Amino acid sequence: MPDCLFCKIIAGEIPSARVYEDDQCIAFDDISPQAPTHILIVPRQHIESLDKADGMDRSSVGHLLLAAASIARDKGFAESGYRVVINTNEDGGQTVFHLHIHLLAGRPFVFPPG
Ligand code: 5GP
Ligand code: ZN
Repeated sequence: MPDCLFCKIIAGEIPSARVYEDDQCIAFDDISPQAPTHILIVPRQHIESLDKADGMDRSSVGHLLLAAASIARDKGFAESGYRVVINTNEDGGQTVFHLHIHLLAGRPFVFPPG
């Protein structure tokens, strides 16, 4: 998608601090971290949101979540804990319309979120 920020990051047209990548997804540091660790996991395929994820293989959606868990283990915060978030559409607080998982760690989180 030519005007999509995350497609540009995937293509390397906009720089990012990549922490993980494979054939289906990439992960990079959020530019405005909301926790000591704040990573975005993004499918290479342009899908607007979780609401449109019917357009993906089911296994690809699962792959994103398992990538988040794998990154958490690799970075050493799986045991202490972390939070994954998928903001979806306006009320969900989504601002970039290319599906992504937020992986947050390094501090306690409250529930429910604001
Ligand atoms: P959303 O609000 O859609 O759930 O999350 C979008 C996230 O993308 C936000 O946390 C925001 O800080 C992050 N973001 C926006 N622009 C950029 C950018 O150019 N680079 C990186 N690394 N993150 C970005
Ligand atoms: Zn995109």
